[in-house]
Amino acid sequence: MKPPTDNDHAPLLVALNAAAQVHLIIGATSLAAARCTKSLQAGARPIILAPEAADIHFSLRGNIEQGLAQWVKKEFQDQDLTTLGREEVDHVVDAVFVTSGAETPLVAHISKLCKRLRIPVNVTDAPDLCTFTLLSTHSDGPLHIGITTSGRGCKLSSRLRREIASSLPADFGQAVDRLGALRRRIWEEDQAAGRSVAKLEVEDEDSVAQSHTFNSLVTAEDANAAKTRRMRWLSQICEYWPLQRLASITDSDVDAILNAYAADHSNGTPPNTDIISKRNQGKIILAGSGPGHPDLLTRATHNAIRNADIILADKLVPAPVLDLIPRRTEVHIARKFPGNADQAQEEFLQMGLKALREGKHVLRLKQGDPYLYGRGAEEYDFFRNEGYIPVVLPGITSALSAPLFADIPATHRGVSDQVLICTGTGRKGAAPEPPTYVPTQTVVFLMALHRLSSLVETLTNTAPSEEKERRVLWPVNTPCTVVERASCPDQRIIRTTLEHVCRAVEQEGSRPPGLLIVGASCHVLHSPEGQKWVVEEGFRGLDELRGEAELLLNGDNDTKA
Ligand code: SAH
Repeated sequence: MKPPTDNDHAPLLVALNAAAQVHLIIGATSLAAARCTKSLQAGARPIILAPEAADIHFSLRGNIEQGLAQWVKKEFQDQDLTTLGREEVDHVVDAVFVTSGAETPLVAHISKLCKRLRIPVNVTDAPDLCTFTLLSTHSDGPLHIGITTSGRGCKLSSRLRREIASSLPADFGQAVDRLGALRRRIWEEDQAAGRSVAKLEVEDEDSVAQSHTFNSLVTAEDANAAKTRRMRWLSQICEYWPLQRLASITDSDVDAILNAYAADHSNGTPPNTDIISKRNQGKIILAGSGPGHPDLLTRATHNAIRNADIILADKLVPAPVLDLIPRRTEVHIARKFPGNADQAQEEFLQMGLKALREGKHVLRLKQGDPYLYGRGAEEYDFFRNEGYIPVVLPGITSALSAPLFADIPATHRGVSDQVLICTGTGRKGAAPEPPTYVPTQTVVFLMALHRLSSLVETLTNTAPSEEKERRVLWPVNTPCTVVERASCPDQRIIRTTLEHVCRAVEQEGSRPPGLLIVGASCHVLHSPEGQKWVVEEGFRGLDELRGEAELLLNGDNDTKA
């Protein structure tokens, strides 16, 4: 490809109506196939010009077999340009795509001929021979976005296209459709009512931007402006509303806007846009809040906390996280206690649903990660069935962070090559099937400390029943660690072995929530060394980091001062 010259002018970007046009595609390679697809998308009729012996690309062949594209089996001849086209334009083809043999004398000749006949021509990899190039496009219904880097790089164009497309709200094409329909209806109704209306097309021109005196045009005193107030109001929402809000307009909103206007019109006030902002806007986020320390929230969850109208928090979500909730926000903490879990859950779901129906933004805040023993998917399913698809945000799970805060590497070369996360409490409080002993495995038991002795008993001592195939018992000297309130200021770690863990917990007392880690990895960095157990109190790591950052910041200020 030739490097573009510095004195390139800006190309004139247009949207061509190519419906029913004849596009002559010279060549049969994958590139010809891509051009063919583009032509078909635009409603044109592609003609593939390639000799009988040509190796036809499979997708091109498919289009030919389906009758979507026509294959003219011959080499190019000058008269093809003026004989293969539509009758209504005297058989001159509407556009030519040369997809192979860049810059051969024949291709240069075709280009020259096309230019003379005013036929738009595109030659692959030869900008000088083209009178037009294709844009990298994103299409969503009636919305089409095209990008060109003027030949600097098609990969870059498509990257930009993806970035721009992903910055738009999902299904924005539908919103464009609805707003277009609303605009047309207002225009038609105004015209039928004999109001002086600007031509629709003119309103689209960027050059007729609203002046800064726009608002003064829509005062009640200005009778003329009042006549076209709906149209002006619509321009204004298109101009100022956040795209997300425009994207959430529904068909019934459109009716509501028109009706509201009909009611309001008589006294000259603009339509009440709250009908849109307050309806059908219910949104639910299901988020994990991490193990406890507020610095372990993700930014996404932190944002959700700041922006929610109502927060439904699990009982385990600790106070420092709840402290981040703005004062204006309604908060409910689950009233879960043993024997009441299902009822509390149901109460929460109904509360969430009610708020959603009122158009509120609901945050369901869970401890750790929402999908790890958090009933997250059940809640997802519930709200989805009610027509509200939750956004789910991950959280740092206690199952993996508590071992870390206790200096236990969940995997460690030569010691542990796998991790198992399980629960000590099954459905309805029953004990779940205990895992078999794997020497190279780190096992993390959640919700297990309240029945620690029976768990340790089954792991180490209770012979597996026959039908439950070869479960290997755990040696009593297997290292294990209890981590409670991981990442909270009152974090406590008890390092011991399966032999002594029950005694240790009995003696030290419990400090929920806590979990049990079992496996050789427990003693990689610390071991009780001759003692039955060792207790470590407190959690400082993150606050120390914070302190340093603040110190640095202050130091900086000092130097500036
Ligand atoms: N979804 C949560 C787990 C919910 S089950 C997560 O991903 O972390 C609740 C259990 O998690 C508790 O019984 C306890 O075993 C464990 N747990 C939660 N927070 C903890 C913490 N800060 N320290 C230790 N264990 C914790």
